[in-house]
Amino acid sequence: MMDSTPRIYFYSAQKYDQAFFEAANTAHGFDLAYTDAPLNADTARLADGAEVICAFVNDTLDAACLRALADAGVRTVALRCAGFNHVDLPEAKRLGLAVVSVPAYSPEAVAEHTLALILTLNRNTHRAYARVREGDFNLKGLLGFNLNGRTVGLIGTGRIGVATARVLSGLGVALLGYDVYENPAFKALGGQYVALDDLYARADIISLHCPLTESNHYMINAESIARMRDGVMLVNTSRGGLVDTEAVIAALKSKKVGHLALDVYEQESDVFFRDLSDEILADDTLSRLLTFPNVLITGHQGFFTQEAMTQIAEVTLQNVAAVSRDEACDNELTRRL
Ligand code: NAD
Repeated sequence: MMDSTPRIYFYSAQKYDQAFFEAANTAHGFDLAYTDAPLNADTARLADGAEVICAFVNDTLDAACLRALADAGVRTVALRCAGFNHVDLPEAKRLGLAVVSVPAYSPEAVAEHTLALILTLNRNTHRAYARVREGDFNLKGLLGFNLNGRTVGLIGTGRIGVATARVLSGLGVALLGYDVYENPAFKALGGQYVALDDLYARADIISLHCPLTESNHYMINAESIARMRDGVMLVNTSRGGLVDTEAVIAALKSKKVGHLALDVYEQESDVFFRDLSDEILADDTLSRLLTFPNVLITGHQGFFTQEAMTQIAEVTLQNVAAVSRDEACDNELTRRL
């Protein structure tokens, strides 16, 4: 068991993280310390003296990093995110580190962002916004399409997939789903489960809502894209590694893919959550993506609402409090191994 007020050292911390965690900490009184440095094997030693570290989606919690954290005296790794594909959990378990996460926080936040991306691309409002501000009121290139009557395929029908189905269900679209488990909540919204190939063949819009695992890395690749409808809209708000970006760029060039929205990107850790506006972008793949008029990229902001941030901060600190008191914590990933 830890002291009653352990120090929690936050990596990749932005000003807004501090604001939400300081507010949530009034219920706990932990000793909070922050760095904007990302967590990796080299920066792990910064946590010296902290029993708990708090990490985010693009921190690198591989075996070397976890060993360095354990050497620095860290006992608990608190993830302030749902996904844990970036953590070597078996190594954490071997080292006796408790890893906790926030499995469910406002799925509506990501679902509503997904809807915003779809509605922006299908009516070209991203282009209209910039054009009108320059005094150009021409409609050339802004021709959209109705969502009413279209078919949307959701890959992954868990919390966010179902929340996305719910916000889409008012738009008169047919909902197809593919998941390794069927969720009655998806069917209750009128959703129909189909085989993955069937979803690829029938959907006008395909949106990804499954976790990234070893078996579905690059599930959107040249071969799967070839099975999709011509002009398909692809939306990824899940994890960048689900999509082979070079294959999608080839499909955008051939017009097989008609629209692409990405809130996540496979190489995002070098770029996202930073202000690089005064620098030369070193990532040629991302640079190429940014040249397409029918590509919309947001910098992993699906989770970024007041409601979700409040829940993330509160649940993260509750997780730390439970582990520090040696209580059973449902959100402890290492306990399930
Ligand atoms: P969830 O666990 O509630 O649902 C995930 C669903 O995916 C489950 O139903 C599961 O059975 C299914 N699934 C697993 N492997 C699959 C596969 N190979 N093919 C199809 N379905 C599969 O998770 P959630 O809360 O809905 O979150 C989904 C994903 O969204 C997370 O894994 C995370 O990567 C991403 N996410 C992104 C943001 C953001 O800010 N953009 C925020 C939170 C979560």
